Amino acid sequence: MTCLFCQIITRKIPAHFIYEDDTHIAIMDKYPIHRGHSLVIPRKHHEKITDMPVEEVSALFSKVPSVAHAVIEATGADGFNIGQNNGRAANQIIPHVHVHIIPRYTTVGVAWPKRSIASEKELEDLAAKIRKCMKSA
Ligand code: ZN
Repeated sequence: MTCLFCQIITRKIPAHFIYEDDTHIAIMDKYPIHRGHSLVIPRKHHEKITDMPVEEVSALFSKVPSVAHAVIEATGADGFNIGQNNGRAANQIIPHVHVHIIPRYTTVGVAWPKRSIASEKELEDLAAKIRKCMKSA
C-alpha cells in the first residue's frame, strides 16, 4: 500500500491528528496555505469524489462543519474556505479523496498565497488546540 493517506490512517506514517472516528480522520496539512489548514479524510480509499457512493460523499461532508468550527475557534480566523480537488489538473496532490478546510484572515487578504512548510512543533501545538476545541464543539 503506497497511498500516503492510507498509511497515515493506519498509523504507519505520523501526522497531526485533530479528529478521528470509525470512518473519518482529520489532520493538519503539512503544507498549509494559511495557519490552521486542515484536511478531513475518509478512511476508505477512493481517488476522486466521483468514485465514491453518494452516501459516503454525504458522510464525508457531514464531518466538515464540526472540524471547521474547531479550527476557526482555535485559530481565531475570520473565515474559511472548503476545497476539494480531483485530479492532477485540479492540483490534487494525494490521490485519496480529502476535503481542505482553509482558515482565512482579513489581515492577509483574499489572494491565495503559496503554500508554506509548517514546523512540526507549530503543527502539533495547533493540533492540540484544535482537539480541545473539538471536544467543546
Ligand atoms: Zn488511500
